[in-house]
Amino acid sequence: MSEENAAQGPLPVVDFLKLPEGGDPYLEGHKCKACDAIYLGERSICSKCGARGEIDPVKLGNTGTLYVYSIVHRSFPGIEVPYISAIVDLDGGGTVKGNLIGVDADPEKIEFGMPVEVVYKDALGRKDKDGNSYTSYFFQPRS
Ligand SMILES: [Zn+2]
Repeated sequence: MSEENAAQGPLPVVDFLKLPEGGDPYLEGHKCKACDAIYLGERSICSKCGARGEIDPVKLGNTGTLYVYSIVHRSFPGIEVPYISAIVDLDGGGTVKGNLIGVDADPEKIEFGMPVEVVYKDALGRKDKDGNSYTSYFFQPRS
């Protein structure tokens, strides 16, 4: 356990979550210039249209709609349950999986197609062995 190995600020939990210094966090996709398909994570060949070298990074939107969800009642030790694992279609393109927060884990309260926004928060207060904290993204209902 040594704090001196810790990074300056929180680290992103996934590589498609970007935390620009002095700027707002955002999710990054990679978009094919030939067919507009959007992927998470870098790639050089589009698996939709087969174009090569036509894929550029793109900032994804912070709003979207709930495509599907699952209420998780059993997880790893130390993970609080129940939680809602969701797949969201972002406005402007891109489909992202993440946890839905700010709503009861009750199917009566969650609607397919409901408007959500992306929020960025500390990843549940955990630190790694080097003392790094992590920032994650979550979805929450938009009012
Ligand atoms: Zn393509």
